[in-house]
Parts: sequence; C-alpha cells; structure tokens
Amino acid sequence: MADPITQPFSRRRFAHLFGAGLAGAALAPLAPGTPEAGASPLLRLVRAAAADAGGVVRLSSNENPHGPSPAALEAMRQAFGLAWRYPDEHMDALAGALAKLHGVDRGQILLGNGSSEILRLAALAFAAPGRPVVAADPTFEAILHHAEADGAGALKVPLASGYRHDLPKMLAAAPDPGLLYVCNPNNPTGTVTPKDELQAFLGQVPAKTMVLVDEAYHHYAESADYASVIPLLGAHPNLVVARTFSKVYGMAGLRCGYAVANAEAIERLQKRASFDNVNIMALAAAQASLGDTAHVERGRRENREVKAMVYAGLEKLGLHPIPSDTNFFMVDLGRDVGPLIAAMKERRVEVGRRFAAMPNCMRVTVGTRAQMQSFLGAFREVVA
Ligand code: PLP
Repeated sequence: MADPITQPFSRRRFAHLFGAGLAGAALAPLAPGTPEAGASPLLRLVRAAAADAGGVVRLSSNENPHGPSPAALEAMRQAFGLAWRYPDEHMDALAGALAKLHGVDRGQILLGNGSSEILRLAALAFAAPGRPVVAADPTFEAILHHAEADGAGALKVPLASGYRHDLPKMLAAAPDPGLLYVCNPNNPTGTVTPKDELQAFLGQVPAKTMVLVDEAYHHYAESADYASVIPLLGAHPNLVVARTFSKVYGMAGLRCGYAVANAEAIERLQKRASFDNVNIMALAAAQASLGDTAHVERGRRENREVKAMVYAGLEKLGLHPIPSDTNFFMVDLGRDVGPLIAAMKERRVEVGRRFAAMPNCMRVTVGTRAQMQSFLGAFREVVA
C-alpha cells in the first residue's frame, strides 16, 4: 500500500480527503510552536488523513459522509484564485440558478450562510415579544434558541401520532404567533408530516402569521405522503421554505443554504442578513452541485441501501427503528439512551444527543456502509 505521506497528491486524493471531511481540519491554521506548524498545508492534509484511519465514526450531526460532488470540488479548485474578491456576481448567479430550478423570480430567493442563517433571520424578522415562534417537540431547535435569545419566546407542541407535526395544536398554541416552524421531514424523528395536512394547515394560518417549512432533508424523502411546499408559495404569501446544501450535496462545512418565499418576505429577511453572507468557495461548489444530478441520485441511493442494511441489523436484535425519510433514523431502546450514547462514544462511535422529549430514542446518522458496520458492532456490545 502506498505510504500516505509520500503518495502523490492527485485530484482524486484531494476529493477523497474532502469527502472524509479532513481537508478543513488539516488546512486550519495551527498555533505557533505546535509540532506541525511548519509543515505545508498539503503535508498536514495528508497526515490528517493518515491519522484518521483509527478515528472516530461520527454519526451525530446528520452530515453526508460521501462529501461534495467531484464537480463541486473542481469548481472550488478553480475558485481559489477568486478568493480576494467579494462574491457579488457569484451570489447573483447562484440565486438565479435556484430561481430557475424552483420556477420562481430571482427576488424570491435569499442565500444564507447555511440554512441556519435563514432560520435565524426568520426568528428576527417575524417573531417578537408577544408573537412567539411555535414549533414541534422534538424538532430542530435552532430557531427556538434564536427566538428565546431575541426575547420573542418559543412554544413547543408535542408531535402527534406517527411523529407528524400536530398542526391544529400548533395553530392554537398562541393567540398571536409570529412564526410557525414546520420541519419536514422532521429532525430528529426522520418522519414526514403528510402533504394534505400541511396544505390544509397553510389555508388556515392567519395572513399575519408566517410559516417556515424547513426542507433540509427534502432530497432523502421518499414517502408518498411527502411533498415540498415550494409549489404552494403562490397561494400563500406568508410561507417561507428553507433549503440547504449541507445534506444531500455534502457541503455542511462550506455553509450555504437559502430561502424561497414571496418577494416581500425575502426583503424582510434580507434586511437583517449580513452583506456578502456566502463565501465564494461555497458559491462555486453549490453552483456546480446543481449541475450534478447524478451525484444527488447516488447519494439518495446509497442512503437508502445503507439504511436498509442497518435496519435489518437492528431488527435482528428485536429493535424496530422508526421509518425514516432522511439520512438519519431514531430507534427506541426502551430505556434512557444517555448512558448508551456515552458507551458508544467510548467505542469511538458518536451518535446523536439525547432528546428530552424522546429520552429512550437514539438518533443515528446514516454514514457509509463501513461506518454503519462499525456502528452495529459497537451497538451490539452496548445493548448486550
Ligand atoms: N434544518 C434542519 C432540520 C437541520 O437538521 C439542520 C442541520 O442539521 C439545519 C437546518 C442547518 O443546516 P445548515 O447546515 O444548512 O445550516
């Protein structure tokens, strides 16, 4: 086998390292005096890859271990020379491409530094003291933290049967909600809120209450009950949809997401955004990713196949993971998962955190086949 330190540095190798999530870590500046501080970034990159061989299996953040499309890696390489420039034209180009993709006007797209930024802007723009954010419990909590920090407050409504959002209860939870947050498919349960229920709900929400549907896991959803609400934007001026390049596009470390909404809602969000909020590397990678539909298909297929393999392994242990429309799943272990999460970590497998609303359920990201075999090995020991 080639020595990883002396192996020639090919584009494919760089792609592999990016895929392993190592490039960023290796290229990060080191404090003066650390043994590696004098080494070239390339050498550090390669050493980090070698060091990773005995590393941790990270299944805690719903990342995509297959990484960005090769076209995105090549686009980033070509963009190195543009690092000195502000990203204006590239932002315009990506927003234009997204508008075309979704069949909306350019003014209906706002790019964000990850979709996390879109969630923060929505809390800032649409919630206020007396006009809280209402969300499911459990769900992706970032927006609730922002609403609390801004003084608007947040209300949680338990999920209904089948881990769908309890939309009628969410609607009734506050006299004058500023923003209703619907995560579909939902993190951490991986489940879908049926499209008919969502459509009926949008028809009932008062015009002055905004609805944010977070479709971060859109590409992984395969249930017949799932549909994106982007086609409903024309009928609902109070609807905002958030999407991300962090999941199926494998770009979590680059930070690029976006909102699709009517132009007035986009303006309200944009006023609160930083100028030039997406970096030129992320823009180059995102633009190229949109052109590589085969990479998306491959990511979906691998996720489906590896998830089925893990489900079969868990079923053999008498466990029944919740059917998932995402690149992660939850499994009920019949006892508090806190100690089990810690025991997995001791075996160098990191799984999702404990969710107070579902304390017996472990959330696990679907990694590569090899990672999931490591997961199953550690898991069998831990639950034995
Ligand atoms: N929305 C949901 C439902 C998520 O699970 C995540 C991240 O895991 C995000 C948004 C944030 O993603 P981004 O990387 O685009 O900020």
